[in-house]
Amino acid sequence: MIPDALLNQIQDRTDIVEIISAYVPLKRAGQNFKAPCPFHHDKTPSFIVSPGKQIFHCFGCGVGGNVFGFLMKYEKNDFREVVQALADRAGIEIPKDRRSGLEEERFAEYAKANQWALDFYRNFLLKESQAEKARAYLKKRGLLDVTTAAFGLGFAPADWDRFYEALRGRVADPILEKLGLIIPKKGGGYYDRFRDRLIFPILDTRGTCVAFGGRVLDDSLPKYLNSPESDFYSKGRNLYGLYQAKKPIRDRDAVVIVEGYMDLIACHQAGVQHVAASLGTALTSEQVRLIKRNTKNVFILYDADKAGEMATLRGLELCLEEGLEVKIVRLPQGHDPDSFIKELGAEKFRQALEGAKSLFDYKLSLLKAQFDVRSVEGKVKIANEMVGLFSKVQNEILRSAWTKELAKELALSEEALLAEMQKHTSRQRPHPVESRAAVSTSVSMMEKLILGLMLDHERFLSKAREEVSLEDFQHPKAREIIKRILEDESREITPAKLINFYEQDPESTHIISLACAEVETLTDKQKAFSDCVLRMKSSRIRNEREELQGRIAAAQRDGNKNRLTKLLYDFNQLNKGMKEIHEKK
Ligand SMILES: [Zn+2]
Repeated sequence: MIPDALLNQIQDRTDIVEIISAYVPLKRAGQNFKAPCPFHHDKTPSFIVSPGKQIFHCFGCGVGGNVFGFLMKYEKNDFREVVQALADRAGIEIPKDRRSGLEEERFAEYAKANQWALDFYRNFLLKESQAEKARAYLKKRGLLDVTTAAFGLGFAPADWDRFYEALRGRVADPILEKLGLIIPKKGGGYYDRFRDRLIFPILDTRGTCVAFGGRVLDDSLPKYLNSPESDFYSKGRNLYGLYQAKKPIRDRDAVVIVEGYMDLIACHQAGVQHVAASLGTALTSEQVRLIKRNTKNVFILYDADKAGEMATLRGLELCLEEGLEVKIVRLPQGHDPDSFIKELGAEKFRQALEGAKSLFDYKLSLLKAQFDVRSVEGKVKIANEMVGLFSKVQNEILRSAWTKELAKELALSEEALLAEMQKHTSRQRPHPVESRAAVSTSVSMMEKLILGLMLDHERFLSKAREEVSLEDFQHPKAREIIKRILEDESREITPAKLINFYEQDPESTHIISLACAEVETLTDKQKAFSDCVLRMKSSRIRNEREELQGRIAAAQRDGNKNRLTKLLYDFNQLNKGMKEIHEKK
């Protein structure tokens, strides 16, 4: 978490027009700027940037937000990275880190301890005679010094506590234990977790060493040993090698996902540098999101025998659900990337990447091997499995292309397949993205304009404080935003700062940027505001009237005259109020 005051300070010293115009050719239009939207195929300039409100919004695809949001989307960086970049630009210092929810100091302590461990293993590999066999092993596997240096490879001595003795006193025992570098002995004292193993440091996206993987040099088991999960490290939230590969991934707008440490390093050395390792074949949703921040194009490169496993396919479907495009690279049976490159060379390897199959082709070929495509039962089984995959696809065009293709492959009619898909999708919960869009569109124009105008000028805000109540807002998110504005004591809330509250909530961000952008299109803001307030009042009265009518009917049924008189009086008052509103209109 970055303190709000700091975010505000950064925003105060940053101009959204200046930032966005470095990426998009902005043209002045009245008080605002317009351009073709950089986030969708846009012929008319639907993209608007408001210098007054320090926000952007696209009327075409609906993206919007403040300067942080723009850079996150355009540069595919995370919030923290964007804030850091703008802070640097503005000459503002951000206190270091709390990325895993840990307190800053604790995080720094852990990071420092791991860095010491990394240095220890690294030096041991380079200098100690005991590590000769490790150096020979790396040489035999064809790893160059420059490669092992780039990944900080090290070696853990075979002794039971050589590492512990070396770091003891420099780092407190509980920290080493928490990081899983040492393990308590039954009778007291500690011994080293990693012994007689090649060490692969695991860095997070900012280059901090958060864990280690250790590989044996012979055939003993377990072949790999990893740092345990902790609040400092979670395997499912990291991609090995992503830190080193970030730039190549963005440059090529694609990532190759491999399984293990050695696969990744072999790829790097063969000149394929846009690569990251999942350390296991089942991608987690956190890993998929990490990928998505950097690119939408994913090539999966697992061992031939593992790529077909259910867990693997599930991970790939997660990619589809996140709107990523997935391709599968198939290596000949018995090969992994490392052995393939060694035997057939880097050029053949690059060809294999180019020949990657779509997830559609890939899954279909697996199913065809399993079921008889000529029999009716076989067709039904294959169709059912494939249709499950289709329902994950976010892209309509892709889905329809796949449907055509599958119908052809199975010699079925497209209609029959579509009917099957309908059944499938109706069984599923609505996808969060779709439901989000559906809710947003139901914010009424009236609510949008009032919200936008409250953020437009102090005079509308103070009027709204008098005339509008929270219950007037039907849309729950809009109501929550209004509540925040009304409760703001500082009276310094701006659209761009308000959006900071909703960093994790794209729907609310969308509502705010849309409301602000709508207001920018108004020719007479004062009139629009009065109209909206009147309409809001009249709809409030209509609701009250309806409710009263119900109670009047009940009082009539009960024959309760006193209450009836009172209710009828109220009803008349409401009618008067309504009449006044109509006269004002
Ligand atoms: Zn757009």
